[in-house]
Amino acid sequence: MAEQRSFDLAIIGGGIVGTATAMAMARRGGCRLVVLEKEPRLAAHQTGNNSGVIHSGLYYKPGSLKARNCVAGREALYRFCAEHAIPAERCGKVVVATSEEQIPALDELQRRGESNGLDGMRRLGPLEIREFEPHATGIAGLFVPQTGIVDYSRVTDAYADEVRRSGGEIMLDARVRRVVHEAHATVLETTAGTVRCHCLINCAGLHSDRVARLCGVDPEIRIVPFRGEYYELRPERAHLIRNLLYPVPDPEFPFLGVHFTRMIAGGVEAGPNAVLAFKREGYSRWSFSPRDACGTLVFPGFWRMAATYWRMGIGEFARSWSKAAFVRALQALVPELRPDDVHRAGAGVRAQALARSGKLLDDFCIVEAARQIHVLNAPSPAATASIAIGEAIATMAAACFSRT
Ligand SMILES: Cc1cc2nc3c(=O)[nH]c(=O)nc-3n(C[C@H](O)[C@H](O)[C@H](O)COP(=O)(O)OP(=O)(O)OC[C@H]3O[C@@H](n4cnc5c(N)ncnc54)[C@H](O)[C@@H]3O)c2cc1C
Repeated sequence: MAEQRSFDLAIIGGGIVGTATAMAMARRGGCRLVVLEKEPRLAAHQTGNNSGVIHSGLYYKPGSLKARNCVAGREALYRFCAEHAIPAERCGKVVVATSEEQIPALDELQRRGESNGLDGMRRLGPLEIREFEPHATGIAGLFVPQTGIVDYSRVTDAYADEVRRSGGEIMLDARVRRVVHEAHATVLETTAGTVRCHCLINCAGLHSDRVARLCGVDPEIRIVPFRGEYYELRPERAHLIRNLLYPVPDPEFPFLGVHFTRMIAGGVEAGPNAVLAFKREGYSRWSFSPRDACGTLVFPGFWRMAATYWRMGIGEFARSWSKAAFVRALQALVPELRPDDVHRAGAGVRAQALARSGKLLDDFCIVEAARQIHVLNAPSPAATASIAIGEAIATMAAACFSRT
């Protein structure tokens, strides 16, 4: 008979949120815990395919979970990287308005930044933009010094090392397939054997709604995958970008708008767009899963969302299939960029929680049930905010699990 292991706590998902939560729980001590990850390595999905930006907290509604956790998490992350010799650079970023209509949104960004405690922001005129980014064009800009870059896969591996050092376990190739609740324990059937635990935390990212259902909880949302595709600047043209260069986001669609990002390992990426994906872990334009596509299409919230946002959706599809359209969006920031200067690079898939009403959940969403916590929406800046989110979940867990 296969071995059955017992723990106080099982965390499902070895992305940055699951490992940060495990680190926070392990640091508190007194809890035998395991992280269950279905892939042969950590950070295989959202975490390992993101832009590698340490966000400042500029965009988020003051007081929201995103704003609070991003600001606290960002500084904790810089400290963690310094203590663990993980390369991270606080290089700052420039947000550029290219038309008069964008000025009110730039003003609003500055106000939000101030409310979120961002010191040292600088408003820029057209010539000052060029002091920071010599090849960028705009009528006004905002320099934000707190933004930085890092490799989130390395950060996740370092969190996992901390977990192991504190006596926690990380099980790879361990997909949770079935969950059975008993009177005082929960039995998780995984591809690496059976795990018995007292409590569980679901940090399954693109599968968080399905894992919640496996656990007997109706998540009331559906995860809809949005692929973000990147181009990379050819090395001989990488000098066009010094650090990070962003357009002013549309306040209604803050996650849209392709930008330039210098990467910590070298090179410059442009993107990502946000294209509705037909496979939750589908990284190419051809990826298709009948189960995932049907799951999206039969959800009433999807059609309500589509009725509102179809115009945006078509624009994103166009930028996905047409390099010329993608490059046109980039040329608004750097007019001398030519199609030959960039080539297609990788992609990431965002787990976006969608309500039945058709509303895209904007803030982090974490719900409790008996002896369970489910992280149902952890979009950007969850990687930046991971240490703060992990601490917040650990605090919830201590309260929630002590009641049982
Ligand atoms: C294109 C893109 C760019 C982004 N850029 C940034 C950025 O620059 N800065 C930033 O702060 N944030 C960024 N984000 C957001 C950030 O990457 C995510 O918020 C964060 O990685 C979420 O982490 P997670 O642990 O919740 O999810 P994931 O990293 O997706 O981890 C979930 C894990 O759960 C595992 N899993 C799922 N189901 C099961 C199961 N049944 N059993 C066991 N394991 C399971 C998966 O294999 C996966 O490893 C970006 C995201 C994307 C997609």
